[in-house]
Parts: sequence; C-alpha cells; structure tokens
Amino acid sequence: MHLDGSCHCGRVRFSVESQEPVPFMRCYCSICRKTAGTGGYAINLGADARSLKIHGGQDALRVYRATIDGKESSGQRHFCGHCGTALWLYDEGWPDLIHPHAGAIDTPLPVPPDNVHMMLDSRAPWVQVEGQPGDARFEQYPKESLAEWHRRHGL
Ligand SMILES: [Zn+2]
Ligand SMILES: [Zn+2]
Repeated sequence: MHLDGSCHCGRVRFSVESQEPVPFMRCYCSICRKTAGTGGYAINLGADARSLKIHGGQDALRVYRATIDGKESSGQRHFCGHCGTALWLYDEGWPDLIHPHAGAIDTPLPVPPDNVHMMLDSRAPWVQVEGQPGDARFEQYPKESLAEWHRRHGL
C-alpha cells in the first residue's frame, strides 16, 4: 500500500510503500508516549525502507536517539524540527524496515480488526488500556512481528 505522510506544519512530506499498513500495534513505552502519543501510546506501521521518498522539508528533519538504560538507542526517531511531529523510526539493525507513525500518515489506513498492546510495563499509571475485549497484551515486546500479524489476519 502506498502511504503519503506529512508533519503538522506541512514542511516535511514523504511517501513510502507499506506491506504492514494496519495500525494495530499500540506501544506504551515512555519514548512513544512522550514523543508521539500523549493518549498513552503510539502506533507504528511497517514499511519498506528503500521506498522512502522525502518530497519536501529535508532541512526541517531532525533525529532523536533516546538513551535506554544508559546507552544511546540505535533507533533513529525522525521528527519535524519546526512543529515537532513524530514521523518515522529507522534502526540500522533492521535496514530493510522503516516504521512510520500512523498519526503522520495522510492516506486513509485500514481499520484494524483487533489491537495489540505492548510495553505495558512502561505504561503511565493514568493510562487505561482500551481497544477490544480479545486484544493481546504484552508487558514488553510481543513475539509476533508486524508482518506475522498481517499474515495471520490474511492482510
Ligand atoms: Zn512540521
Ligand atoms: Zn514505544
């Protein structure tokens, strides 16, 4: 699926081809919560890193690398330096993949049939885990990848 995305101020515009465009995976970790999801979580999609095209705003792009347990994370969190919108995550450990934030995508995304809630041990105490009754919940990372979830659902 072809995805068009942008930041809120419109400086940064990008597109990417996605095999995993269903926004089902809610991450409650403190990095997602603070940088991209003040409802308590952020949703990342899976896409083909080589297909990423930046159509504007290259000069506004910034990268944040979080410190996790005293070490700088290999995850490169790209955001707009003007308006602060979280755009996508790239990690050199998985060079074929890029993870756009669902909230930055302008193309209408498919509605997920269920949700997966992960990193719940990092959840803020005020955050209620919503979603659907049968949703899978994980204290940390689920074993099933974004791609495996899509295959299991025939998507
Ligand atoms: Zn912006
Ligand atoms: Zn997270």
